[in-house]
Amino acid sequence: MENIVKITIQNLECNGFAVRYFETANEAAAAILGEVKPGETAGFGGSMTLENMRIRESLESRGIVTFYHGTAKSPAERASILENEARTDVYFASSNAVTSDGRLVNVDGSGNRISSMAFGHKRVYIVAGTNKIVKNYEEAIVRIKNVASPLNTKRLSKNTPCAKTGKCENCDSPERICNVTLVHDRPPYGFVTSVFLVGESLGY
Ligand code: SF4
Repeated sequence: MENIVKITIQNLECNGFAVRYFETANEAAAAILGEVKPGETAGFGGSMTLENMRIRESLESRGIVTFYHGTAKSPAERASILENEARTDVYFASSNAVTSDGRLVNVDGSGNRISSMAFGHKRVYIVAGTNKIVKNYEEAIVRIKNVASPLNTKRLSKNTPCAKTGKCENCDSPERICNVTLVHDRPPYGFVTSVFLVGESLGY
């Protein structure tokens, strides 16, 4: 394990997060399946990491009811799924950045993901590759605005400058995806926030 990863894990734990480290995404995916109990429901924030790991499909094949707004076929269905997504027992997301001083930094367009990362579920699981590790909050924002957001706007066919140039222009586009920022300095009161860190490059 690289030194920066060790330091990040130590600092996340010092800050109160429950941290597990896995060398591979497959190992992490297997462990995640054991975290959801029969009868519980699971919600998902938008995440290429989770999609590529096929966590939702694996849980569904075990009879777990899941909600993910990315499966919606219409705006009305999306709104309905988002309501259910916010009320699940367990919530899964990745993090746009994990700082080596032990914090999670995330930026959303509509705020549904970061809202659920902070409140409303019995347990929250953050799954992130070590490619998401940065030094501190300032580097996290640089990463989010110049790596994660441009790739996401391109993937989602958003009409933003970064989708074309690959870097942030601090736009005022109606389709801007950087509208609300959440920093987990520590886990919020009342439920466990677990960070599953994977020693691979995953997602954006
Ligand atoms: S503020 Fe606009 S240009 Fe900058 S990363 Fe966000 S969506 Fe892209």
